[in-house]
Amino acid sequence: MAIPQRPSLEPSELAELLRRAKSAVALTGAGISTGAGIPDFRGPRGLYVTRRYDPDLVFEIEHFRSDPRAFYEFTRDFMDLLRTTAPTLAHRALARLEAAGMLKGIVTQNIDALHRQAGSHNVVEIHGSYWTAGCTSCGQPEPRASSPDWWAEAVRVGPRPPVVLCARCGGVLKPDIVFFGEAVRGLSEAEGLARRADLFLVLGSSLAVYPAASLPLHAPGKVVVVNKGPVALPPGKDRYFVEQALDQYFEEVLEALGLSAGDA
Ligand code: NAD
Repeated sequence: MAIPQRPSLEPSELAELLRRAKSAVALTGAGISTGAGIPDFRGPRGLYVTRRYDPDLVFEIEHFRSDPRAFYEFTRDFMDLLRTTAPTLAHRALARLEAAGMLKGIVTQNIDALHRQAGSHNVVEIHGSYWTAGCTSCGQPEPRASSPDWWAEAVRVGPRPPVVLCARCGGVLKPDIVFFGEAVRGLSEAEGLARRADLFLVLGSSLAVYPAASLPLHAPGKVVVVNKGPVALPPGKDRYFVEQALDQYFEEVLEALGLSAGDA
């Protein structure tokens, strides 16, 4: 029986595909943000490995409803981290590619808003973000929840362990991030982008989380995975697997295109 091949792709070859693509789309995961110091879940220093937090508890909706403290402990540390992080070269490269007309959009599983900070415009945050929030009791939005600084201050002055409460009714606030057990956001938009993609990039994702993991299967064109660890996508026609660090790889892609990543 023939062993399925997992062909790789040189940065200059991806540059050429990007040049020719009419509708290139990127699906990004936690691996694009590890270079910014934000741990992923399944990489060598990921949360599932270090277990400093248990992602199955922190992001589980029923657990949050019965006891939001684990989530807020995580939020306190995550906001401290976000206040000191900046988009990576790979984030900035994607913004640059969009500006140059070579990337139609990004579907991200990340909740760190670093794509927006890097200057990308067409970003579908299917797992939501912290930058909008609402009360779990009265249902009112909390318009001030719009930056790491606000959250960092809110968890600092709250009770110990910190839980941020609604100023109107005292209910528990919940940022609009998607917990395990909740429906993802913008799925039809994400699927639409994937269905029209003549080039679909999977960047820094193990493809272990559905429905994001199914998006490459909708893409009719070439699929290029750039990821350092195992990825749950079988080899197939027009599928390429690059096992390299994203920042280093995209630095070379931009160089081949004569573009610079610039500043965020
Ligand atoms: P994942 O942790 O399952 O997979 C990340 C993959 O990226 C791993 O295979 C890892 O080896 C690889 N990787 C890490 N650093 C890399 C680098 N510099 N270059 C190339 N590859 C690298 O992440 P996922 O697929 O996004 O799924 C995890 C879920 O956790 C998602 O739902 C996401 O919302 C959430 N999450 C988000 C953040 C964030 O917002 N930054 C961080 C952790 C988890």
